[in-house]
Amino acid sequence: MGKVYLVGAGPGDPELLTVKAARLLARAGIVFHDSLVSGEVLRLIAGESEVIDVGKRCGHKLLTQDEINSLLVSAATQHNVVIRLKGGDPLIFGRASEEIESLRNACVDFEIVPGITAALGAAAAAGISLTDRRAASQVVISTFSRGAEGATMDWGAITGTTTLALYMPGPDYAEVAHRLEEGGLPDDLPCVIVSNATGESQQIRWTSLARLAYEERLPAPALLIVGRVASRKVQEITETFWRRKPNDRHGSRITVS
Ligand code: SAH
Repeated sequence: MGKVYLVGAGPGDPELLTVKAARLLARAGIVFHDSLVSGEVLRLIAGESEVIDVGKRCGHKLLTQDEINSLLVSAATQHNVVIRLKGGDPLIFGRASEEIESLRNACVDFEIVPGITAALGAAAAAGISLTDRRAASQVVISTFSRGAEGATMDWGAITGTTTLALYMPGPDYAEVAHRLEEGGLPDDLPCVIVSNATGESQQIRWTSLARLAYEERLPAPALLIVGRVASRKVQEITETFWRRKPNDRHGSRITVS
């Protein structure tokens, strides 16, 4: 019986993989990956390994979660190293707990290899300290689009000193802005949209709660950071010091509205 590794692929830049993740990818028998995992990371998988995309494409699921759970269990009977590769960190909005449960029930050995979650990749890309003590008292990691799949967001938990990292902010930002305004947050509260954080097509848009509703949608995957930690001063520092240089993959297109 082999072992299943639930591995975080990080937000995009393959150099942000853990050493452990890279080592495991190089000796994987089979890899089941999400569509979020970047091509550059997939290229690190051993040439002889079987590679299966179990991700979603345009909202259309290639495989159900139950099917993925069963595939992981059966793959462990055929391969020594089975990898379930997920974008970012496997335990953040990754449905890992359902996979862990089915591995446990089937008595399959498993291990979790953490990765850099998108919020941390996006914060680094924008030069924002999510916990800046001068502006933030808490960091909330949440998502807008859970709906039927789980508990919905508690908007009341967001205060003027919260840093909100909002995953899957949805097709338009108007409703997010509306909910935050309804919660009493000020119009001038800074917001940053980071698309493809740390990836080759990274884009950063600095805006505010008042303007968020009118922002054009940036390409997926995109994440929204809301809070005083993304002040104009931080924006200016980021824009001044992070110019595009050859070989500087973080020198992304930065726009301000
Ligand atoms: N497990 C992942 C999150 C999966 S949910 C993690 O830890 O990062 C998918 C959502 O994550 C996307 O809709 C987007 O909001 C966010 N996301 C993932 N990768 C991203 C990236 N490179 N840039 C911006 N947002 C990203």
